[in-house]
Amino acid sequence: MQDGLKILFVFVDGLGLGSNDPAVNPLADRDRFPNIGKLLENSVPLDAALGVPGLPQSATGQAALLTGLNAAKLMGRHIEGFPPPRLKALVQEHNIFSKLLATGKTCTFANDYWLDDVAHIPRRRESVTTVATLAAFGGVRGKAELAANRAVYHDLTREKLRDRGYTGPLITPKEAAEHLIAIADDHDFTLFEFFETDHAGHSGDKEQVFQTLEKLDRFFATALLFNGLLIVTSDHGNIEDLSVRTHTMNPVPLFASQPEKFQPLENISQLAPAIIQVLV
Ligand SMILES: [Zn+2]
Repeated sequence: MQDGLKILFVFVDGLGLGSNDPAVNPLADRDRFPNIGKLLENSVPLDAALGVPGLPQSATGQAALLTGLNAAKLMGRHIEGFPPPRLKALVQEHNIFSKLLATGKTCTFANDYWLDDVAHIPRRRESVTTVATLAAFGGVRGKAELAANRAVYHDLTREKLRDRGYTGPLITPKEAAEHLIAIADDHDFTLFEFFETDHAGHSGDKEQVFQTLEKLDRFFATALLFNGLLIVTSDHGNIEDLSVRTHTMNPVPLFASQPEKFQPLENISQLAPAIIQVLV
């Protein structure tokens, strides 16, 4: 245990370690994405396939990241999108937030939900992170927190919120990272989820891929200045292989700004217990 250590965990959906060929992997062009490049160059590969046949998927991958359980193996397959009831129950019972709270640590999910009533989220929108957050805290960060810059919208800049009636200012990726760091400074463990990488990978639209990665790169220019332990990883590959529009079998990168804190890890289900061990 290290007294006072703060952990900021940035979960980037659909980011694998891919080939060095820029024709296939947009991230092979390190000059274009210097900050993501720095993360990737200083990362170790984690297996996301978890010994289960087929392409790794989001619901089981994210459940593995947030519970420390091999969710794909427990469910007998990789499960896409939002978790079905049995997987939801696993996340409710074993998530890292609840475990940390039980030891007296403070933690939070920094993402904003565009809601007034933050305890009632439409069921269809309950991703693994939402299920974990509701199980641990009974609510999420909503409109009031966003207005006070105490929440970060998933797209970083709030542009996507325009369609949903947001009339406040747009912010830069740098400002989004500053807001996130301020939240992380106040908690032992903070999670932020960015999933436009996965959407861009599925779109097959190169323009969307490059715009998404450029925005994320600008965000990381500042997020990398976080004074505590910054962790970045993913649930499965996708955006690093533009030759397919599906997820990939590639390992995902695990970046830790203080890598000496962790024993070598092999797969995504080993990260949550390692984080708990560092903090508790
Ligand atoms: Zn995913």
